[in-house]
Amino acid sequence: MSQQNIRVRFAPSPTGPLHMGGVRTALYNYLFAKATGGKFILRIEDTDRSRFVEGAEDYIVEALKWCGLTLDEGEGIGGDFGPYKQSLRSELYNKAVEDLLEKGKAYRAFDTPDELNALRQDAESRKEVFQYDAKTRGTCRNDLSLSSEEVEKLLAEGTPFVVRFKTPDFAEDVVLIDEIRGEVNISSTVLDDKVLMKTDGLPTYHLANIVDDHHMEISHVIRGEEWLPSAPLHVLLYRAFNWDPPRFAHLPLILKPKGNGKLSKRDGDAGGFPVFPIEWKNHQTGNISAGYREYGYSPEAFVNMLLMLGWNPGDEREKFSLEEAANAFSLDRIVKSGARFSPDKARWFNELYLRESPHEDLAESLAKMAPKFGVNINSNQALSIVTMMIERVSFLGDIFESKWLFEPPSKETFNLKMVKKKWKDETASYIEDLKVMLEGIEDFKADVIEGEFKAFLESRELGFGQVLLPFRIALTGSGGGPSMFEFAEFLGKETTLSRIEKGLATVASIKKELKV
Ligand code: GLU
Repeated sequence: MSQQNIRVRFAPSPTGPLHMGGVRTALYNYLFAKATGGKFILRIEDTDRSRFVEGAEDYIVEALKWCGLTLDEGEGIGGDFGPYKQSLRSELYNKAVEDLLEKGKAYRAFDTPDELNALRQDAESRKEVFQYDAKTRGTCRNDLSLSSEEVEKLLAEGTPFVVRFKTPDFAEDVVLIDEIRGEVNISSTVLDDKVLMKTDGLPTYHLANIVDDHHMEISHVIRGEEWLPSAPLHVLLYRAFNWDPPRFAHLPLILKPKGNGKLSKRDGDAGGFPVFPIEWKNHQTGNISAGYREYGYSPEAFVNMLLMLGWNPGDEREKFSLEEAANAFSLDRIVKSGARFSPDKARWFNELYLRESPHEDLAESLAKMAPKFGVNINSNQALSIVTMMIERVSFLGDIFESKWLFEPPSKETFNLKMVKKKWKDETASYIEDLKVMLEGIEDFKADVIEGEFKAFLESRELGFGQVLLPFRIALTGSGGGPSMFEFAEFLGKETTLSRIEKGLATVASIKKELKV
C-alpha cells in the first residue's frame, strides 16, 4: 500500500458520551495513521439537531486527550480542510445536493408523513414492507412522478420537501472491498431511496458523511460494523458524484462478557464496570455514568485493553504502548468476528501497568488522593505503603480499603472467622512474649525484626504459622496483607507495641463474647 496521503477520520456524533467501542474506533484510526505516516482527523457530525446532547462534544475531545490520541487536524485544533464540524459546512452540502439534482441522481419528494404512513400501513396489510425505491417511487409524490407544472406549483406554495437519492432503476450488485471482510456484495434492490436532505434543509448523515470524506480527502474509512449496511449506499453515492470512494474497513463489534450481543451501558451497570472512557454527567438528568479514568484505570492500561479487543499482533505479545502499537499495527490483523469484552482482563491490564509504574509517582498520587478517603499521609509514608501494597491491588485507590494501614483495627473491623480459627488458647501468651522480644529491638528495621522473629520461634520451638498469623491479626485485625516485618517497621516500634497491646485486649473480649 502506498504510504502517501493516508488520511483517516474519527467522526462521532455528539449525541452522548463516547462508548468504549467508539474509543476503539478512534484508536484504530489513530494507529493506522501513525503506522502509515498519515493524518488523524476529528470531525464532529452534528447534523442531527434533534439528537444533539449538550456537553458531548467537549466530552469526546477530553476523552481522546486522556487516551493520548493526539489529533493532526480537527475541530478545536484546525487544519487545511476545516471547518471540522458539519453544522458549519452547510454550503458544501447544498452544492452537492444541487449537483445530484441536476444530474438526475436525486429528486425532490413532497410526500407528507401521513401519506408515507398510509403507504406503510397499506404494505403491512399485504404482509409486505414499504420501501421507497425504483418500484414504488412512481406512486409517490415527487419530481419523477409529478409533472413539471405540478412541481413548480408545489415549490411556489412553499410545500416542504426532502431530497432523496435515486437508487438504480434496475437490479445490480453493488460491490465493495472491505479491508477486513474482503468482498462485500449486495443487491441494489435492498436499498431504498434514502433521504439526503431533510425538510429543514439539513443534510442527513449519509450525504454529509460522503461529501466531507471526499472534500477532506479521506483515504480510509475505518468505522464500526454497524455502518456496514450503509456502505453500499455510500458506494453508489460516490459513483453518483463521480468521486473515487475511499477504502473501507468495518471493525468488529465489542461483545458482552458472555459473548451474546453488543456490549451496552446496561451490561456495565449490571457487571460493575464502566463502558465509558471518562465519567459522564448527563446535563439534563444529573445522572452520572462511571468512567475508566475515575474508576482508577491508567489511560495506558485502558488503551492497551482496547487495542487487544479486535486486533492481535500475530504473536503472544499483549503489552503495547501507543508507540509500540503504532509500529505493530495493520488493518489485516483486525479480526472479523466480534471481540468479547472481559472485565477481568481489563483489570489485569491495569495491574500490569500499575506494577511497572515508578513507586515515587504512585506515592505522589496516593498522597494526593488520601484526603478523599479521610486520611492524611506524607510522601515518605505514601512511598512505604506503595512498596508494601502495590503487588496486592488492581487500582491504587484499592489501598484505602485496607483501613488498618492508617489506623489500628477496631473490634468491628476484626476478622472474626480468623480469630475463631487461628487464635488458640495459648496464642495470647506467645504474642505477649513476642511483644517483649520486639521491645528489645534497637534497630527497628524489617530485616532485623525478621531475624529476631525467627530466632524467637526457634528458641521457643514454635512454628511460623503459630505466631505470624496471630501477630498479623493483632496488628491489622485481618488475615492477609503485606510482610508483617515491613509493616512493623512502617508503624515504628512504639505504634507496633501499642497495636499489639490493643489487639490482645480486643481479641480477648471477642473470644469472651463468642465463647470460643
Ligand atoms: N457519525 C457517525 C457515528 O456517529 C460516523 C460513522 C462513520 O464513521 O462513517 O458513528
